Amino acid sequence: MRYVEEFNDPALARRLLDDIRATATRPWALMEVCGGQTHSIIRHGIDQLLPDGLELIHGPGCPVCVTPLEMIDKALAIASRPEVVFCSFGDMLRVPGTDRDLFRVKSAGGDVRVVYSPLDAVRIARRTPDREVVFFGIGFETTAPANVMAVHQADRLGLRNFSMLVSHVRVPPAIEAIMRSPECRVQGFLAAGHVCSVMGLAEYPPLAERHRVPIVVTGFEPLDILEGIRRAVHQLERGTHRVENAYPRAVRDEGNPAALAMLAEVFVTTDRSWRGIGRIPDSGWSLAPAWRSFDAEHRFQVTGVTTEEPAVCRSGDVLQGLVKPHECEAFGTLCTPRTPLGATMVSSEGACAAYYHYRRLRPAAATARAPQDAGSTEEATPVG
Ligand code: SF4
Repeated sequence: MRYVEEFNDPALARRLLDDIRATATRPWALMEVCGGQTHSIIRHGIDQLLPDGLELIHGPGCPVCVTPLEMIDKALAIASRPEVVFCSFGDMLRVPGTDRDLFRVKSAGGDVRVVYSPLDAVRIARRTPDREVVFFGIGFETTAPANVMAVHQADRLGLRNFSMLVSHVRVPPAIEAIMRSPECRVQGFLAAGHVCSVMGLAEYPPLAERHRVPIVVTGFEPLDILEGIRRAVHQLERGTHRVENAYPRAVRDEGNPAALAMLAEVFVTTDRSWRGIGRIPDSGWSLAPAWRSFDAEHRFQVTGVTTEEPAVCRSGDVLQGLVKPHECEAFGTLCTPRTPLGATMVSSEGACAAYYHYRRLRPAAATARAPQDAGSTEEATPVG
């Protein structure tokens, strides 16, 4: 199968690993900012194949995980209203709010539906004009074009019973916030190829220059990730800090101009809270004033939401790369994918869930596997 098997080739993986081992002369810490990459790294044991001292830190790259508790609670309040059909990707239904999740709202009689595209929600709105149809629009830059297209489509069809609860986030301001943190250990980044296929590379050179960190855009297959690591290590050893595109089969410097034009028309940037991290200036999108009539927050005026994270959950530290999931005392005991306490255990892209699924139950249990031996109990479904 082209574009999949050839990026899993064990012989090529060994060559890339040999190059990395021959190049790295001292410890380095790289962060991947994409849940799909985190999942692939843990699934294939890539981190365990790297030379000692070369560490991969799993950053805030899972869109489900970083959606703030306050927004989950707003979704729960809107979904509980009798006139509402609440549509969402499946990952969001188990994300715990302060005292319940969307599954509980559904079991209590709420009309909560899993959809596979925001356009499915537009279709539902068209078929049920007597109901208010709300789509939960979350994610990084990757899913944003489809969401703005749904708003456009609803407008074109004259649908006044469709709205969107928008909680979009953007990667570059998160990199900025991570690098400004006094506890930051990150020396280089693997940037997410699917994000850059939409946005292009323009936002990254100022970050690389300001913080003197190499940023390598790469994909999700084992060879993509190893090539990204290889390039970043070469830069670190040389003392350079450039933006490199190691994913040219999907990413062009200018991104996707049609998607960028639609995003600029429908969305405006806004400060956004990231679960476990806090407010990051300019790190999100909301609907522009001209499209406010489609904004579910504006339409339903949900107020009085007070949120409280479980005290034991360290997902904020996990998302910032300050601890590994199995260093959380609740990992695998109080907190499992069936009984998640934090969002990083709910989503298949979350770092805690990846560690649990691939049996990284404690640091000593780590067992190196070659990429071709990797098995899977659950496939990631990136919603990026
Ligand atoms: S294991 Fe569970 S409680 Fe611990 S940080 Fe991860 S999500 Fe939170």
